[in-house]
Amino acid sequence: MESSDITIIGAGVIGLMTAREFLNAGASVTILEKNLCGQEASWAGGGILSPLYPWRQAQAITALVLPSLKCYPKLAENLYENTGIDCEWEQSGLLITQNPDAEAAQNWCHKYEIKTEVADALFFENLTADLHNPVFLPEIAQIRNPCLLKALKQDVLNKGARLIENCELTSFTLHNQNICDVHSSQGKISTKEIIMTTGAWTRSIFQQHLIGFFDAPEIYAAKGQMLLFDAPPNTLTHIVLDDDQYLIPRRDGKIIAGSTVEYNVFHKDLTIEALEKLMRFATTLLPALKNVPMIKHWAGLRPATEKGIPYIGRHPKIHNLSLNAGHFRNGLTMAPASAQLLVDLILNRPTVVNPTPYQFYKHLYAAT
Ligand SMILES: Cc1cc2nc3c(=O)[nH]c(=O)nc-3n(C[C@H](O)[C@H](O)[C@H](O)COP(=O)(O)OP(=O)(O)OC[C@H]3O[C@@H](n4cnc5c(N)ncnc54)[C@H](O)[C@@H]3O)c2cc1C
Repeated sequence: MESSDITIIGAGVIGLMTAREFLNAGASVTILEKNLCGQEASWAGGGILSPLYPWRQAQAITALVLPSLKCYPKLAENLYENTGIDCEWEQSGLLITQNPDAEAAQNWCHKYEIKTEVADALFFENLTADLHNPVFLPEIAQIRNPCLLKALKQDVLNKGARLIENCELTSFTLHNQNICDVHSSQGKISTKEIIMTTGAWTRSIFQQHLIGFFDAPEIYAAKGQMLLFDAPPNTLTHIVLDDDQYLIPRRDGKIIAGSTVEYNVFHKDLTIEALEKLMRFATTLLPALKNVPMIKHWAGLRPATEKGIPYIGRHPKIHNLSLNAGHFRNGLTMAPASAQLLVDLILNRPTVVNPTPYQFYKHLYAAT
């Protein structure tokens, strides 16, 4: 039997960043991942480090977004120093073609000191879009999420984490409302604290293994499909958001077109409808893409909650079980502050962010 201070279930961006924070605090950490590390939603995402229209989000999302954004440049630098892996943090700016709530946008950006620029005709030289109060947010950045995940994996391994891949949580042994053992496809682990960072799978794990201990968290899968174009460098220089779809230019020129939001779809099958929809969107917005090969089509499962507010904190009935899950469309953006908050709570340190909106009880009452 193996033992560990902290056992984290799920090695997406949330699990890996949570592990990193615990390791930085000197804890011993074991991470169980049912597949390979960082291959699910965190890999599938676009890596835009901002909600799409940040002024439309709940305050509880803003409260995690703002400190996370501050921390990303240093985090990317630190990961590069520790692992040699460049996460391609880039302040490529976010160009929004249609901004009907212009006043709310200005007020929000002013309040949180996010720069805005009027997006004049020069921004649209190569784009075809219906414009409505277009705006440019030059400070919005992106991260190349597959690289971020590789760097996080290497960093937690360097810091001494035990990462067990192809290892699925199968059940728990409970004693006096504490989990004493975690059972997995590779054996049993005894542990002091269990942290569930299982993204879209969280609800089904609670429904299967923790029946009778409070309601299962309201986290549902929302499938997202994306396309990748093999464009030459500088075909597009900013992230462009057009209604609810976007283009993201990577540093090497490749362009991501995203995304669909398919609620309550718990499989990653690719569909012709999504392919056609994303192709039409991408080649209309940026006609240069008509001459560029589309080289990849993929899907991922976002862990959706009703308002996009994640569950972060201890379980109300099982004393040594905590959750950091349900980040919906903004998990890459909110990961650093979410990890920090959870670890501060478990280690009884003062928290930077008010923990109340992310607690189980808060979610339960919000739903009724
Ligand atoms: C198409 C798309 C575009 C997106 N774009 C962005 C964006 O631009 N910006 C942004 O901030 N966010 C974006 N997101 C959202 C973001 O990707 C997610 O919110 C985030 O990745 C969630 O991270 P996670 O670690 O909770 O989940 P995941 O990355 O899904 O990780 C959960 C892990 O738990 C493991 N697991 C599950 N069950 C078990 C078990 N029983 N035992 C062991 N392991 C288990 C899974 O295998 C998985 O690896 C996007 C998502 C998608 C799908």
